[in-house]
Amino acid sequence: MKYFSTRNDKQTFTASQAIAMGIAPDGGLFVPEHIPQVDHETLRALCAMDYRARSAKLMKLYLDEFSQEELEGFVRAAYAGNFDDPAIAPTHFLNENTAFLELWHGPTCAFKDMALQMLPHLLTASLKKTGEKRKVCILVATSGDTGKAALEGFRDVDGTRIFVFYPDGGVSRIQRLQMVTQAGENVGVCAVKGNFDDAQTGVKRIFGDAAFAEELSGRGWFLSSANSINWGRLLPQIVYYFSAYCDYVNAGRIQVGDKLVFCVPTGNFGNILAGWFARAMGLPVARFVCASNANNVLTDFINTGVYDKNRPFHTTISPSMDILVSSNLERLLYQLTGDAETRSYMEQLNREGRYSVGPAAVQQIQATFSAGFCGDAETGEAIAALFAETHYLMDTHTAVAFKVLADYRRQSGDQTPAVIVSTASPFKFAADVLAALGEKGTENPLTALAAKASRPIPAPLSGLEERPVRFPEVTERESMRRIVSDFLEG
Ligand SMILES: *Cc1c(COP(=O)(O)O)cnc(C)c1O
Repeated sequence: MKYFSTRNDKQTFTASQAIAMGIAPDGGLFVPEHIPQVDHETLRALCAMDYRARSAKLMKLYLDEFSQEELEGFVRAAYAGNFDDPAIAPTHFLNENTAFLELWHGPTCAFKDMALQMLPHLLTASLKKTGEKRKVCILVATSGDTGKAALEGFRDVDGTRIFVFYPDGGVSRIQRLQMVTQAGENVGVCAVKGNFDDAQTGVKRIFGDAAFAEELSGRGWFLSSANSINWGRLLPQIVYYFSAYCDYVNAGRIQVGDKLVFCVPTGNFGNILAGWFARAMGLPVARFVCASNANNVLTDFINTGVYDKNRPFHTTISPSMDILVSSNLERLLYQLTGDAETRSYMEQLNREGRYSVGPAAVQQIQATFSAGFCGDAETGEAIAALFAETHYLMDTHTAVAFKVLADYRRQSGDQTPAVIVSTASPFKFAADVLAALGEKGTENPLTALAAKASRPIPAPLSGLEERPVRFPEVTERESMRRIVSDFLEG
């Protein structure tokens, strides 16, 4: 199968080129030339498989350059003992028609592991297939979850190094400890003075520095990104929508062909877009409910067709959804309107921070997506109420989706069985979860939450305080390039 850019569908690329390049030369995102179909018989076959087999089978449909054995090797390496649940992405049924799809049983306790445990395998194999001789250095600016998940994914992967910059004081205590204690021989981490934008701008500047790229190339290196616009990150996420559906079937709650609703806590639109692909492949999905926090740019877009990032930025207790430019939306725009219109929307977004899609596209979007948002207070109340009622504990991101689904059901009367996509372990955001449960200013939130929930702290987070800090450095933005250069010495 060929791939092309959302901004020009005349020039084609192979899957390995798309994954190796990450972003298209014209600045667009790679999309497949057609969407493979999964019929009900195949869906039944998937239901009989475990997560790894489901993953190899579905990814193969998009990666015909890769053999079945190759892909099976990748899934065995990506989804193994590094997950603390043999189901990898287990479905927790709350009641008759509501389930949580728990995507946080991996090594960093957030859903980004589902893709970032797979990406290094796809990327290194793609580099071999494209004949790339240089080694790759993954460069990441992170506001928390992505950096840690990328470090875990790429640590000690042959032919790669990874360096992560995070804003000094701009990530949670747990997120910082997770990164500065990172194990692995090929990893580096450094704080940058300033906020996330400063770190991100610094990294973008390094990526755009042609002279530096040439110097690194002479030393046998090139820089690449692990952020969610890479097709190799989106593809592994399609799998868990099928997997949740199969779990519903296997639990005897629906039959193959019945439809589900998926409610997704959304930031960059990567997760929910993977669901859109699953539906386009034939997965019976009635509707996606797009859940946002106070940064509700997507709620407005889905309800009106106007995307406008010119609005105040809110710092919330669901920080991984604090985003005003949802990059992966470009892929949906392409699917609905084609390359010329997409190009023009992205130009408008660049120029004015705003664009507006036509009535036909709005109608198509609203036929598939509903949207809602909720603030921090309601998020906290949702956590406390569900815990009091059922003893099930949600993190702050999942709770946004839970609340928005409840609103959707009340307003629409739609009681279709639903899956709430659960994106982080409550322990990862322990302080805010505890505060929601009415306990403020606890000395050690992890221990306190474990006691409160009568559950052990997940292994990747326990003992964090005792681990040696390997990367205490803080730098000025001006020194980031030199730090990367030094990191690639030797
Ligand atoms: C990244 C992230 C999200 C948002 O996912 P997108 O793919 O960016 O929409 C939601 N919750 C958590 C915990 C995350 O880490």
